[in-house]
Amino acid sequence: MASSEIEALTQALARLPGLGPRSARRAVLHLMKKRETALTPLLRALTAVGEKLVVCAACGNVDTADPCAVCADPRRDARLLCVVEEVSDLWALDRSRLFPGRFHVLGGRLSALDGVRPEDLGIDTLVARVAAGGIDEVVLAMNATLEGQTTAHYLAERLERFPIRLTQLAHGLPVGGELDYLDEGTLAQALRARRPVG
Ligand SMILES: [Zn+2]
Repeated sequence: MASSEIEALTQALARLPGLGPRSARRAVLHLMKKRETALTPLLRALTAVGEKLVVCAACGNVDTADPCAVCADPRRDARLLCVVEEVSDLWALDRSRLFPGRFHVLGGRLSALDGVRPEDLGIDTLVARVAAGGIDEVVLAMNATLEGQTTAHYLAERLERFPIRLTQLAHGLPVGGELDYLDEGTLAQALRARRPVG
């Protein structure tokens, strides 16, 4: 049997998405065997992120700086704004540099079932961003779920009074599809074939 410290580490790892008790035990064994090459770098990386973790006030991304690396990147087209549900969607779209603009993370999607209302999401901050001007196109990149599409409709209504081009991802997206799980080819296609809302 392992000590309580090692047991606590195993349990913490087992709660991570994509891991379970079995993978967690294997990871812990690996970390203990490879102290210099695995455990120490992981500790350093966790401490660094743990100390600096912040939510970007502009876009809602999580990073170790505010504004985040995406917002601070001068090569990005500030006139293009892509609205996503979750940080994982931002990372999925950003991973392969598919989208040359900036992002806005809502922090979820409208849901009558789960009691998520517009004021629970980053919608007022989105409207304020658009109202401030300097944005030509807003791409609504909600997931192809019922709640994602309900959210997109609501956003379209809130944004229709602004002189912007409002588009959404093409419906080559699989129904019920979550952006984070799509391969880059499908995502790129959905972005390229984006179409006006309405
Ligand atoms: Zn940001």
